[in-house]
Amino acid sequence: FAAETSCDETSICLMENSSIVKHITYSQEIHKIHGGVVPELASRSHLEKIQIMTNELFSKGTIDPNEIDVFSATCGPGLIGSLLVGSNFTKSLAISFQKPFIPINHLEGHILSTSFNNDIKFPSLVLLLTGGHTQVYLMKSGNEIELLGESVDDAIGEAFDKTAKLIGLSYPGGREIEQQALDGNEDAFVLPKPLIKEKNFNFSFSGIKTHINLLTKKNKIDKKFIKDLSASFQKNITEVLIEKLERGLGRLSTENKKIKSISVVGGVSNNKYIRSKIENFFIKKNIEIYYPIKEMMGDNAAMIAWACMKF
Ligand code: ZN
Repeated sequence: FAAETSCDETSICLMENSSIVKHITYSQEIHKIHGGVVPELASRSHLEKIQIMTNELFSKGTIDPNEIDVFSATCGPGLIGSLLVGSNFTKSLAISFQKPFIPINHLEGHILSTSFNNDIKFPSLVLLLTGGHTQVYLMKSGNEIELLGESVDDAIGEAFDKTAKLIGLSYPGGREIEQQALDGNEDAFVLPKPLIKEKNFNFSFSGIKTHINLLTKKNKIDKKFIKDLSASFQKNITEVLIEKLERGLGRLSTENKKIKSISVVGGVSNNKYIRSKIENFFIKKNIEIYYPIKEMMGDNAAMIAWACMKF
């Protein structure tokens, strides 16, 4: 049994012999009207849902909770109130069924998610793109994971959400921007590319948001502006990712590290535009590209259960 409650998804999963027996995820709606996640509301919503969902998980008679070998839950990083709900709930289940409890790191859940459905070729890179993190890891093997670089300010998902908010789109902003960008002109606006020249895997996205804020003051925010800006923003941020990967890979090859594959994980890996551009780039370099199964893309308990299995 695994539980994930680090942000605004309440998720529980039963996994047996590397297959998902049952997986239930509830995405909290309450944050929409606030244009972003409100921590206090998130914890309260987890508290309201987790017990009902767990009853549902066991109600169908598929698995007797007494047969569960291990209980695990996300214990960090994330919103502390939300983490406490899921981890304490799961710990109390473990105590009552007299079984071990294993704390799982949320980022490790994302990082290991592609090994569920792929045979990873090492050395491998992991590009973690979520609402809270933008990070690049080097995996020399299944259990040697090294952080190579990360965003020094906003995460990529955060940049999507903040841009969406600035141009009047609703939360979560990722899907909205991707949708609007479909019929926008991606060359309409030239946006900044912070840290682009540095030969490392560090990113910075907050300057792009500041620039867009200025554009919203200088232009009339009509349908055309929203579509063009969404397309220009999406193109710019994808180019930043790819150019940084190119420079970073160049540096790794001088250190004699020949990367054989890359995993693109986290909620932002759902973006079809970003996916297709990244695929083009890596196919040309003869590097295999892996994605998690759909259920393990956003925040979910299946990846936590899987990380626990690999523990
Ligand atoms: Zn996450």
